[in-house]
Amino acid sequence: MPITSIHSFPMMPTSGFTALLERYDRPGPRYTSYPTIDQCGESEGPQAYYQALQSRVVGGLQRPLSLYVHVPFCASVCYFCACNKVITKKHDQVADYLNCLEKEARWVAQSGTAMTPVVQFHMGGGTPTFLTDHELKDLVERLEKIFPFAKHAERSIEVDPRTVNKERLGSLRGMGFNRISFGVQDFDPLVQKAVHREQSFESVESLVAAARALGFESVNVDMIYGLPHQSTGTFARTLDQLIALSPDRIALYGYAHMPERFKPQRRIHIDDLPDAEARLDILSLAIDKLQAAGFDYIGMDHFAKPSDALSKARRQGVLHRNFQGYTTQPDADLIGLGVSAISRIGPTLIQNSRNLEEYQYSVNKQGSAVFRGHVSDRDDLIRQTVIMAILCQGELEFADFLETHWVDFQEYFSRELDSLSEFVEDGLLIWDDVGIRLTERGWFFVRPIAMCFDRYVRKSGLQGSQVL
Ligand code: SF4
Repeated sequence: MPITSIHSFPMMPTSGFTALLERYDRPGPRYTSYPTIDQCGESEGPQAYYQALQSRVVGGLQRPLSLYVHVPFCASVCYFCACNKVITKKHDQVADYLNCLEKEARWVAQSGTAMTPVVQFHMGGGTPTFLTDHELKDLVERLEKIFPFAKHAERSIEVDPRTVNKERLGSLRGMGFNRISFGVQDFDPLVQKAVHREQSFESVESLVAAARALGFESVNVDMIYGLPHQSTGTFARTLDQLIALSPDRIALYGYAHMPERFKPQRRIHIDDLPDAEARLDILSLAIDKLQAAGFDYIGMDHFAKPSDALSKARRQGVLHRNFQGYTTQPDADLIGLGVSAISRIGPTLIQNSRNLEEYQYSVNKQGSAVFRGHVSDRDDLIRQTVIMAILCQGELEFADFLETHWVDFQEYFSRELDSLSEFVEDGLLIWDDVGIRLTERGWFFVRPIAMCFDRYVRKSGLQGSQVL
């Protein structure tokens, strides 16, 4: 039994909140998995993936599937981008790429995984809508022939508003997509110009209205704070426009400027970026305004309307987290198709080659293009449970832990519990004989709290301060 069966949402941050944001402003993993993908090594290759796929059918027990397809192509580059993409205006590479996706899907299916339904299907990129409607439809149909899709599967797609119109949205709906995510980032023209991603508020507004009229069940909008020329003044206007759109979900990510690692970011002038204090003021303002507008804070960069399934799942303590972020779907095995795609089958984490030519060469040669992986040990799995409980339920009970894992939590994690004291002192966490539980404010600090239990962050000695 959880400590509380119904979870309340964090209320409006009050005084001292920005100081806390500043204190715990530590870059860290987004924990779409634990261990994070950076822990994969090249010693685990296609064989580990094959064995993991094979082991799904042992004993007749199989988990449902989540399917992710990566489309790497983009017609133009956004300067903040840290994604794996190929910038091109030409379509001549698309046909070969779609053939490779099909080949890879068949290789996976032949390893025995096609027997469980796909309950979650997500297309991301790059820009999935770089593909024409005909190419997208063809790809979806090919995948449907290979994998059995559940009747009510969540089918979501990331959409760059500059690449679609109302008619295209209608085509996507006709292909079965029922969730849509628009990449917006900011509505301010100066900010948009500085990051090379210009799109008018009016165009996004009419697309969101069209998506609703077409019956998309959930409309998400991605935003970024910390971009060049942003200030509380400019972002307040952007937030007002965002709120007027009334999306079901909002993802608000912090921009991390790492030009040495991500080449497009070299086009962003460091002097144009808001300083650390301004960044936190912008974040604090965003949290205030979104909550005042009625959005619930879900945790780790995400907001949703109270009527949205994510909010309901969070209230009921049944939220999950996977590579798509927060989800209502219970744990499924993830099959990632395409260049750089990540798969997770039980304890095995796998990533495909991040280079398009290498990916296509490997798939054409052997059906898969794994270049690195990681098989979780018992300690990884124990820590995964703790980290996901903090991120999704905001609490865990020591007695439950003993029952499930045969581990005395307080003994096993004595060092980690010691490092939680600063959060307890700041009123972000309650730690007693029963367990640990986030306070309402603590939900805004789930990342640094979860990082206390991350063996790899601790081992690096960086305390998360230099970890992506
Ligand atoms: S942000 Fe999206 S559209 Fe822009 S370059 Fe990156 S992947 Fe492409």
